[in-house]
Amino acid sequence: MTDSPDWPNIMQAVHHSAKPHFGSGKVADYIPALACIDPHKFGMTVALGNGEMHCIGDTDEAFSMQSISKIFTLALALQIYGDDLWKRVGREPSGSAFNSIVQLESEKGIPRNPLINAGAIVTTNHLVQHYSENSAHPQGAVGQLLALLQDQAGDKSIAVDEAVALSESETGSRNRSLAHFMSGFGVVQGDIERTLSSYFRQCAVAISCRQLARAALFLAFDGCDPVSGKRVLSSRRCRRINAVMMMSGHYDNSGDFAYRIGLPGKSGVGGGILVVAPGYGTVATWSPGLNEAGTSMVGAIALEELVRKTGWSIFV
Ligand code: GLU
Repeated sequence: MTDSPDWPNIMQAVHHSAKPHFGSGKVADYIPALACIDPHKFGMTVALGNGEMHCIGDTDEAFSMQSISKIFTLALALQIYGDDLWKRVGREPSGSAFNSIVQLESEKGIPRNPLINAGAIVTTNHLVQHYSENSAHPQGAVGQLLALLQDQAGDKSIAVDEAVALSESETGSRNRSLAHFMSGFGVVQGDIERTLSSYFRQCAVAISCRQLARAALFLAFDGCDPVSGKRVLSSRRCRRINAVMMMSGHYDNSGDFAYRIGLPGKSGVGGGILVVAPGYGTVATWSPGLNEAGTSMVGAIALEELVRKTGWSIFV
């Protein structure tokens, strides 16, 4: 990559390559509150280590964070529990759908990784248990997640969309099944409904591309925000979160995403994708139409063009 890339030009090229595909893919209608989102929306923000932000499209419109929240709850749980977290959740790719239950029976209720639904429910269960026992944090696990996002993004407006959370709870039979099944193995502990409520609300956080790219910048700089200098995570843990994202960030589409984009990333069924370019910055895209695995179709196309233009890859 050149020392001073022509960012306006790069962002225009990304938009140009994505535009013919606007509206393709299928919006996640299994959560009724998401079914009405306009599939033609598209936004992208690149946040760089020097504080520059480059934006194009619907970059300030809040969308449902969904599974991208799993990265931040993983960061919070690793801060509290350290490597003990890995006793109840693995770190192998699943090769299965995001809400699959099939591996849990043969693997004694221990989910393959923290980025599939079962694994994220276990991570959230750790946070719920910790914060409900800790009166210094009355806002609970979701409050801590919001505080992390708001502090890192420098934007207090990031909030839970309660209508989306309710919609997901009302249609959340698969996630309830996962949680109860894991509880039968002692992997999910304590109050299951409380954990599920926290999980549904974390998924329902509404965030824009600009806010998301900025909030995640510490992941590209060894756990330390390069603009504020604030350390969020140790460099060792940050690298490990990026490794898990690289292998498992897109469910059974993770191999294809690594092949095409070559950077750690996490997708959500709200149509967002967060990508980390270590040493350079972060990218957040949003376009609601999903492929079969639940990754934004247009977002992935736009990211392919971005890495082509910038040369960003962890394989350089
Ligand atoms: N809230 C979604 C669910 O649990 C998350 C799935 C996703 O974004 O991939 O079904």
